[in-house]
Amino acid sequence: MSSRKTVDDLELGTLRSKIDGLNRRILELLQQRGDVVLEIARVKQEKGLDGYDASREDEMLRELAGSAVGPFGPPEVKEIFKAIFRSSVNIQERKRLQEQRVRRFDLLPPGGIRVGNVGIGAGVSTLFLGPCSVESEEQMDRIASRIARLPVQKILRAGAFKPRTNPYTFQGLREEGLRILRATADRYGMATVTEVLDTATLDVVAEHSDMLQVGARNMYNTELLKALGRSGKPVLLKRGFMATLDELLLSAEYILAGGNDRVVLCERGIRTFETRTRNTLDVAAVPLLKQDTSLPVIVDLSHALGRKDILLPCGRAALAAGADGLMVEVHDAPDQALSDGFQQIDLDSLDELVAGLGVKAPEKENG
Ligand code: PEP
Ligand code: MN
Repeated sequence: MSSRKTVDDLELGTLRSKIDGLNRRILELLQQRGDVVLEIARVKQEKGLDGYDASREDEMLRELAGSAVGPFGPPEVKEIFKAIFRSSVNIQERKRLQEQRVRRFDLLPPGGIRVGNVGIGAGVSTLFLGPCSVESEEQMDRIASRIARLPVQKILRAGAFKPRTNPYTFQGLREEGLRILRATADRYGMATVTEVLDTATLDVVAEHSDMLQVGARNMYNTELLKALGRSGKPVLLKRGFMATLDELLLSAEYILAGGNDRVVLCERGIRTFETRTRNTLDVAAVPLLKQDTSLPVIVDLSHALGRKDILLPCGRAALAAGADGLMVEVHDAPDQALSDGFQQIDLDSLDELVAGLGVKAPEKENG
């Protein structure tokens, strides 16, 4: 009885080590196949061809099933190779993602992305504050003089070229607005960000502003993104209101691929069926983007919410989720604002909001 058992054990042991050896050979062949798959993907990419070819896959399956003689019949062989094909597509996809510059984790310089005297993404929250639009010198001065006094790291925002949904509403002061924004910011030693709408006005906007904003409506404007890549200026890239996070990252990739790594991503709310807020603030976007990129991520509370009564809790949520900063629209007389008056807070409310958020002041005062 016991010697029979020993013989069985021996036989089983031999068979099992045979299986182990075969597994290793199959694995070795699979890895060789994987190398070839990636090589094919590279050649196809160079030729601008689509990576996945369904008819070629069908053809291979038919041929393999047709020559399936042995214990594994056509159904099993098909099943096994389908799994191999699926995994092959997965490794191609993973390789493609790894090749994106935006997904590298060594993009951020130690002091963060420098915009004038501010470093974004280096541990101190940056507040992007200012009116929706530049309306006049006096309006900008009233607002900027108060923002300048806040003991936080800040950038003065205001639109000169406005991408309005309705063509019959205020379209911005354009070049004059750029000059007013620049002069006001200089008076108070602040850096600026303003929106650039197209390639035609890129040079003049870049000449006047420290940072260039790509608005939600322009996130897919690939020619503008390419031009921003060449411009070398820091870019605030807003998420389109119908854009996935992967699409936002690919838009950033356009700028990076053009040679400009100084990009800050901005979640500003997306369209959903909810009507209580202008857009739906996607707080999850912040930690999700940070899993994929080292670029700083900020949250524009004003355009996400389109209301002023819940800025504090939503701002806290954004910072708790890891945002590197917040954007808030501020006006000295929101009721008279030429754009987005309903969502702009007044100057006293700004003081309260900043105090409530408990945003740390930079170690060295930045203007
Ligand atoms: C803005 O910040 O001025 C603006 C127009 O925002 P968005 O592009 O997010 O709508
Ligand atoms: Mn606005």
